[in-house]
Amino acid sequence: MPSNSSGHIVILGTGGTIAGTAAAAADNVGYQAGQLGVAQLVAAVPALAAHALEARQLAQVDSKDMSHALWQQLAAAVAEELAREDVQAVVVTHGTDTLEETAWFLHRVLAATKPVVLTAAMRPASALMPDGPQNLLDAVTVAATPGTRGVLCVLAGRVLGPEDVRKVHGYRVDAFAADEAGPVALVQEGQVRALRAWPQADPGEAAALQVAMQRPVAQWPRVDIVTSHAGCDGALVPALVALGSRGLVAEGTGNGTLHAALEVALRVAQAQGVAVWRASRCWAGGVVGQPEGALPSAGVLTPAKARVELMLQLMLRA
Ligand code: ASP
Repeated sequence: MPSNSSGHIVILGTGGTIAGTAAAAADNVGYQAGQLGVAQLVAAVPALAAHALEARQLAQVDSKDMSHALWQQLAAAVAEELAREDVQAVVVTHGTDTLEETAWFLHRVLAATKPVVLTAAMRPASALMPDGPQNLLDAVTVAATPGTRGVLCVLAGRVLGPEDVRKVHGYRVDAFAADEAGPVALVQEGQVRALRAWPQADPGEAAALQVAMQRPVAQWPRVDIVTSHAGCDGALVPALVALGSRGLVAEGTGNGTLHAALEVALRVAQAQGVAVWRASRCWAGGVVGQPEGALPSAGVLTPAKARVELMLQLMLRA
């Protein structure tokens, strides 16, 4: 696919390790995320000068601390930039920890037809071999390539879709996988090699969600995750309901199976009007099938993404 740099690409900075620095170049773990501004990240990659870019600093957070308030602000900023005729795409620099949750959130609330490309890094900008500059260049390459569309995550030369992207390693540079579906595309030497269809979200639901998410985040429905494990007694469930949970995602074993004690507690919560979904704590495969009488399945969504999805669905019901 040829590259096209005719329109503007807006780069929104939110922080993360890609903007992180450590006191020593050899230190890949004892760093502070979100130290360099997005304009500095762009300036560090000379090849980006070939593109018409605008850099806008939206936040400076370690994405482990991502908040619903920042999601609200980010979705509004991305929508505002995408609405500009002179903007062909938006790139978001982000932390790796919650990148997949932000990707799912933006996918669902924007249903973007222009590219919205999230990128991140596992090594801080001060590292001996930072991965951020290449990832940022690749993200801009994807954003500038005609035909690309929707929310895409660009990491280590792979373009991963919002449904499939998942951080699977806490340290390795190549830390992301796309479950069994595999990447949507590859970025190799400045060229995008498409492998399958670009992600598409429901535009009608996105429009309704954009309205629903205007309300203060304190009014967004609370959805929590509870894990099924050996020795589980389900006691967290009534505690979460008492805290105001309107939805619970049960991170089940295997194919979304639940400890009997947890299931009893979840069914009590469900009878009280709490929405309950079953996901899987396995690293791939999701939950397959919906046996008669079983609690509703979150399908292919990981527990973290299922939490976001259930929150959005509850927003639409409110
Ligand atoms: N804790 C960092 C973050 O998510 C990790 C990273 O970006 O790699 O912001």
